[in-house]
Amino acid sequence: MSDVIAAPPQPRVPVRGTDQTFPVHRIYCVGRNFADHAREMGAAVPASRADRGTPVFFLKPADAIALQSDVPYPPGTNDLHHEVELVVALGKDAPVGVLDPADAMSLVYGYAVGLDLTRRDLQGAAKAKGLPWDTGKAFDHAAPISAIVPASVAGELGERVLTLTINGQTKQHGSLADLIWTVPDILHELSKLYALRAGDLVFMGTPAGVGPLQPGDRFHAVLEGIAEHSGTIVAAPTV
Ligand code: MN
Repeated sequence: MSDVIAAPPQPRVPVRGTDQTFPVHRIYCVGRNFADHAREMGAAVPASRADRGTPVFFLKPADAIALQSDVPYPPGTNDLHHEVELVVALGKDAPVGVLDPADAMSLVYGYAVGLDLTRRDLQGAAKAKGLPWDTGKAFDHAAPISAIVPASVAGELGERVLTLTINGQTKQHGSLADLIWTVPDILHELSKLYALRAGDLVFMGTPAGVGPLQPGDRFHAVLEGIAEHSGTIVAAPTV
């Protein structure tokens, strides 16, 4: 048997400090994982962890990762938004069944910092009609990401801070201590719905301060003490 077309390239993220790469299987994303961001989006904020219900999940295609510095402004939107996020990279398949949160961290290969780029106008229109978020979230170059840092190098996540500056001005700043759902919580919840695999990336949700990006804007995302990623939004080619 042979392929009828050339096999599409496997999306891969470099591993920092090595000549190795991390092949990407799926990209899972968590919505509303910081109370201050849920509040700014007009969503209900749980009174306590016991009242948090179930997390909001969506996916991006694996080839939405954008490693290059120049990120094209996507078509079909007039309101592209930045969301800086911790990205968790899984290095092992989850066992069959529901993953025990106590075992979850053993699946983690490493961490990166990324942007969950969002066509906020399309997402907002979809939300208002109860329709899927795909066109707002899952598009080409929608997931700029740093190199992955192995967990053995990164150390504990603890209360590290996520920061995003645009043109040198701080727009987002939030501590991982404020995650509504921690990494073990999220892997546990995802395992109820999907077979988690080596190669999966999980975008863990964004703190408050999301806002618009324009062509020419320079972004700098930092996961304190672990990873940084910079780039520029560029006008997309029109022909
Ligand atoms: Mn997000």
